[in-house]
Amino acid sequence: MIGFAAIGSQSSSAQTIKFTSAMHTSKNLTYNGTIKYYVKSDAKKYSPEISYATKKWNRALGKKVFKPTTNIGHSRLVFTGTNKLGRNYAGVAEINSGVIALNTSWMNRYNQQKRRAVVIHELGHTFGTKDLYAYPNADLRGMFKKQTIMGGNYSTHIKSFDTKLAKWTLKKTRTMSQTEFRHYRSNTGLYYQQMLNGRL
Ligand SMILES: [Zn+2]
Repeated sequence: MIGFAAIGSQSSSAQTIKFTSAMHTSKNLTYNGTIKYYVKSDAKKYSPEISYATKKWNRALGKKVFKPTTNIGHSRLVFTGTNKLGRNYAGVAEINSGVIALNTSWMNRYNQQKRRAVVIHELGHTFGTKDLYAYPNADLRGMFKKQTIMGGNYSTHIKSFDTKLAKWTLKKTRTMSQTEFRHYRSNTGLYYQQMLNGRL
C-alpha cells in the first residue's frame, strides 16, 4: 500500500540497516523466477508507468523478473484501475491472487513521476516486502519513509538498499504452487477477485 505525502530528503544512507523479519511477509508472487503480469483494460492508461516500473525493477535486480503477458490465465499479477479502493490508498498490492489495484482518483491527479513511483512501490510488495512506513521501530520508520521505496518515499530511483531488500525478501519468502495460486485466483469471493470481476 502507498498513500503518504512525499517527504524530500536525500541525506544519510540507509544501506547499513539490518534487515529483519518485520520487513517481509510469507509469500512472493514469483513462479519459476518470474512474475508474468497482465494489464486489465481499466489499467491500460497506466501502461507507460507499468512498463517503466517493471523495467526499473528488472534492471535493478539484474534479471527479467517481470514479463508482460496478454493472457490473464498465464499471469501471476494483474493490474487493475479502480475507484473502489479506500481513500487513503493510491495503490494496493494483493499477494494471494496477484492483484495490484491502482486508485484512479489518485493516479489521475498525480503527475507522471508520482504515478511511476506508486507502481514501483506496489511492485515491491510482489517480492513479499512489507510497508516500511509501518515498521515497528520509530526511528527507523522515519528514515524509511524518507529514503526507501517501501517506506513510501515516492522515488522512481531504486537505490541499493531497495534492491538488496527486494533480493533478500525473495529469498526469505516462498513461491506458491500453481494449485495454491489458482485456488486464490479462482475464489470469486475474494475482495480483489470481486474487484477484477466488476462486482465491487
Ligand atoms: Zn505499500
